[in-house]
Amino acid sequence: MEPAPLNDVYSEQKEGVNLFKKIRLTTYFSLENNPLVELISSNTHSADFTQKRSEYIRGRLWIMCMFFAFSVPIFSIFDFITFAHQHAKTLLIARMTLSISLFFMAYRVKRSSSVSLIKYVIALSFLLPSIFYLTIMNTFASLESVPHIFTMMPYLILAMIGLFPLTVRGGLILISLIFVPFIMVQMQFFNGDYWQLFNALWLFLLFAGISLWLQLAQLSMLMNLYRESTIDPLTKLINRRVLLRRIEQLKSHATKFSVVMFDLDRFKRINDTYGHLAGDKVLKVASHIIKTNLSCRDIVARYGGEEFVAVLPSTNLHSAILKAELIAAQLKALPIQINDQSEITVTSSIGVTAYKQDEEIETLFKRVDDLLYDAKKLGRDRVVSDIK
Ligand code: GH3
Ligand code: MG
Ligand code: MG
Repeated sequence: MEPAPLNDVYSEQKEGVNLFKKIRLTTYFSLENNPLVELISSNTHSADFTQKRSEYIRGRLWIMCMFFAFSVPIFSIFDFITFAHQHAKTLLIARMTLSISLFFMAYRVKRSSSVSLIKYVIALSFLLPSIFYLTIMNTFASLESVPHIFTMMPYLILAMIGLFPLTVRGGLILISLIFVPFIMVQMQFFNGDYWQLFNALWLFLLFAGISLWLQLAQLSMLMNLYRESTIDPLTKLINRRVLLRRIEQLKSHATKFSVVMFDLDRFKRINDTYGHLAGDKVLKVASHIIKTNLSCRDIVARYGGEEFVAVLPSTNLHSAILKAELIAAQLKALPIQINDQSEITVTSSIGVTAYKQDEEIETLFKRVDDLLYDAKKLGRDRVVSDIK
């Protein structure tokens, strides 16, 4: 999930700062940054957020499956008290089948955290209870003889959707999985009473709407917490923690990548001379220039105070150096309006290296940090790499 920096661009422009004139603004006007789109489908979610959300769903899914795997057969006692022995036995078979399926799903969810597996299991964990409902309703001759606990089942299943932080699309898929058996049962018991059918549908829609609302509230809360813990509020870049997770992912997929570490030169002086707000503005401009010069596949993070790291997947050292030089040149050439009187420019020292297969992240970062240090020692305002 990328930050939504529209407001920042507008406010910068309102302040009369022409920083972004030469910079591509178009990247900021894509739908990818629209919070509504993020709630509708997971297409624009980052790989990291998708993994986090999936882990969250996984925990709840396991509890839900285990809870119903135990409780569904236990309620068989009431079947044997209420119904004829043969009927209760048929219900017991249905209950046991559902229970075993739920146990199996809980087991699979416990063993694997694969995002696609969680997707299938969550769909099944709503589909199977709905089929169970269809099956047991089929064992009754008339609606009058069905206890409330059974007729209410689709609504109870719907309510469970509210447990999960799902997108609108995810929620609608689950609702339709419950709706099909529900409408089949309605048709089975339909006696020409349209008013009763309308009432049942109305109640279904009401529950579906509330569940959708609850799941979206959960998703929205999760997104906000995720943003706060992973995205730097000043530059809207990801922080060091997410960067390291993303690098681990690249490593696990055996993707080659290069790493570029930027450090603004004599940044403390800017703070000391013009104040911290001026320093903040420089940081925003620098991060913006880095981001806009790289592709959306590249990962850019605020690594420390005035240090940024860009990870460029499938980019060799030579191309990474060219990109670093381009960014350094753009930053150096851009006058930054600090206040009504002053405009400043800033230079950067940059270290560039390429990931060597199977090396530790610490080793990689030590190397790029040393290269950056060399750039400082050699007089700053330069790119230093370990190209042979
Ligand atoms: P060098 O050329 O060796 O990199 O010198 P430098 O002054 O850039 O580096 P130094 O590490 O001495 O100073 C970094 C400064 O960055 C110190 C700290 O106050 C400032 N800083 C860190 N985070 C922020 C921030 O979020 N906003 C502002 N305005 N300043 C920050
Ligand atoms: Mg520094
Ligand atoms: Mg510095």
